[in-house]
Amino acid sequence: MIIDLRSDTLTKPTEGMLQAMWAAEIGDDVFGEDPTVNTLEEKLAGMFGMEAGLFCPSGTMTNQIAIRLHTGLQTEVICHKYSHIYLYEGGGIMSNSHASVKLLDGKYGKISPQDILDSINPDDVHAAETTLISLENTMNKGGGSIYTLEEIKPIKSICDQHGLKLHLDGARLFNALVETNESPKDWGAMFDTISICLSKGLGCPVGSVLLGTKAEIKRARKVRKSFGGGMRQAGFLAAAAIYALEHHVDRLKEDHTRARELGKMLEGHALISEVFPVMTNIVIAKLSGISPTDMLQKLEEKGIKAVKFGKDQIRFVTHLDFNDEMLERFGERIKDID
Ligand SMILES: *Cc1c(COP(=O)(O)O)cnc(C)c1O
Repeated sequence: MIIDLRSDTLTKPTEGMLQAMWAAEIGDDVFGEDPTVNTLEEKLAGMFGMEAGLFCPSGTMTNQIAIRLHTGLQTEVICHKYSHIYLYEGGGIMSNSHASVKLLDGKYGKISPQDILDSINPDDVHAAETTLISLENTMNKGGGSIYTLEEIKPIKSICDQHGLKLHLDGARLFNALVETNESPKDWGAMFDTISICLSKGLGCPVGSVLLGTKAEIKRARKVRKSFGGGMRQAGFLAAAAIYALEHHVDRLKEDHTRARELGKMLEGHALISEVFPVMTNIVIAKLSGISPTDMLQKLEEKGIKAVKFGKDQIRFVTHLDFNDEMLERFGERIKDID
């Protein structure tokens, strides 16, 4: 049995999800005529109390569209140095939006209101104009760490005072919300735009949704077209997403429980010096006396897959296709590695 913990994007549609996809009513979404896509966009926007949504092929696209909406020539985005938008989107901030980036540090991938305040450029001929703050929740490279709503409020008020836009890369926002029990509507009230991935923990084959105001989403639709992201009978994919929102949100807690157990199994291992606090479905282990490549090789020999995550770290992600039996096997196999 191969235990694949490289990412929560690896899941395959369940039987129920496939049936929902087969049964989808479809149309041409570029004409705005796919009823299932329209339903998905309205449903997610409604959940977060936001005006409108836009279904896109990937979370990279929803993030990059949001950045395009909120920036322009000679502007600057502030984000954490480990942000997905900066590290893992092919340098898109520059190539898609021609914006400059200011990278902040902070424990477990989170940035503080004071550091943000100190990083806003002055209204000065020498400086790029700061227009956007982008946050990530949960924070992938921070080990699936969570921002609480209370932590967002002071950041939101800085944005209001300085006329800045606030974007959330909420690829795994539902993972955070099931842990904190905070309401999606309270989160929706904090941000100008939110990107949510359906193809991660929620288990869909494809898709992300960008949420925002009607006016912003209208512009976003045009940007999506220019990025080549206008899809036709996308209702098959939207049907998977609607199914996931109805059946796969609460169960994210199971992934978190298994991730915590998995973290415990790694603690104290001779080749691991530290396991980041496990808050959601991501487990990051710092290695000691072995390179990530060699450790991954040892794991692979035992039928376990993970990924390199920095120069001395590896990452495991739990997901819909990782069950208790696999967790138990994981525990047995990891003991055999030395
Ligand atoms: C996966 C992910 C995305 C989007 O990735 P795609 O593969 O383009 O869908 C964005 N942000 C974070 C934090 C992610 O983990």
